[in-house]
Amino acid sequence: QEAHAAELERTFIAIKPDGVQRGLIAEIISRFERKGFKLVAIKIVVPSKDFAQKHYHDLKERPFFNGLCDFLGSGPVIAMVWEGEGVIKYGRKLIGATDPQKSEPGTIRGDLAVVVGRNIIHGSDGPETAKDEISLWFKPDELVSYTSNAEKWVY
Ligand code: ADP
Ligand code: MG
Repeated sequence: QEAHAAELERTFIAIKPDGVQRGLIAEIISRFERKGFKLVAIKIVVPSKDFAQKHYHDLKERPFFNGLCDFLGSGPVIAMVWEGEGVIKYGRKLIGATDPQKSEPGTIRGDLAVVVGRNIIHGSDGPETAKDEISLWFKPDELVSYTSNAEKWVY
């Protein structure tokens, strides 16, 4: 099957503590689900600060790094892996620009967030980070492969 490799594209998506506290879990999951992407892993965790620093290691020189890592560890996070053709790039499109003031209406951040430090959701920014972030947050056996009838139409 030609499309098989593309079907296995996966990205790491997290609902940050502000999104969880604001009751936006279902709203956010729903947008990925309705698009036609497939949820293959999900859990709720409170990351330690050390773990948050690992997750955001690329940003360690930025002035907001410390506050950002404190914030990620400040409460429950919904960690997920979503699968589907083009899910890494299109997931970022569903999420919208980093600064919610610049996110288009219709995107998750555009519709639901106001400031950059509380932008409710994280998504991997490329194939390498997707791979790294999935393996940081999940053990291989926490990812579930399954097929559904819908799959042959939308994935
Ligand atoms: P994205 O989450 O869109 O991939 P980045 O990887 O650049 O964005 O930054 C990671 C997170 O750091 C952002 O989602 C945001 O919560 C926070 N952040 C980015 N820029 C700033 C900033 N200038 N001030 C405060 N927090 C920021
Ligand atoms: Mg990023």
